[in-house]
Amino acid sequence: MKKGKLVVYTGYSGVGKGTIMKRLRELDDSVRLSVSCTTRNPREGERDGVEYFFVTKDEFQKLISEDGFLEYAEYCDNYYGTPAKAVDEMLEKGYNVFLEIEVQGGMQVMKKRPDCVSIFIVPPSMEELERRLRTRGTEDEETILKRLSAVEEEKKYNKYYSYSVLNDDVDRAAKEILSILNK
Ligand code: 5GP
Repeated sequence: MKKGKLVVYTGYSGVGKGTIMKRLRELDDSVRLSVSCTTRNPREGERDGVEYFFVTKDEFQKLISEDGFLEYAEYCDNYYGTPAKAVDEMLEKGYNVFLEIEVQGGMQVMKKRPDCVSIFIVPPSMEELERRLRTRGTEDEETILKRLSAVEEEKKYNKYYSYSVLNDDVDRAAKEILSILNK
């Protein structure tokens, strides 16, 4: 069986990565999302093993020492990492595996797996991004400000990605990503 593609899928906090991802999965059942480990607290409605594996800092350190991550990074005071084994198993089965990760992790994967496809989701404008981050209401003010300042740093990495996709419309953006996958 043909191996699936590994996709580094990055975008600023609040840009709509999750919504596009949901649409992608509706449109194409070869698309799978890797479930990361994180040390941050679950948001309302998030389930362990579904959105993330929620772990303690000690558990995260243990996974690092066992070389269990394809990549990992610290973002806004928490750790996030991609479990390597699950990703490789899905690729072997022919699925296109999306890693919804921030830029430091994205750079690690591009280096380790140069055959990956890298996609950066961009907002229509910075004002729109801030508006989305505030109206979804999942973060407190301090966290929102931290995430907005992370954007300035993340912007510098956009140029290392093979594709930028504008999230002006969820359905359009999802279809553009599928056409990139089929190239
Ligand atoms: P959130 O806390 O909003 O779920 O995620 C914060 C940031 O961490 C987002 O940019 C998200 O894409 C990124 N992220 C989620 N999982 C991982 C991961 O496994 N590795 C890395 N490097 N970043 C991740």
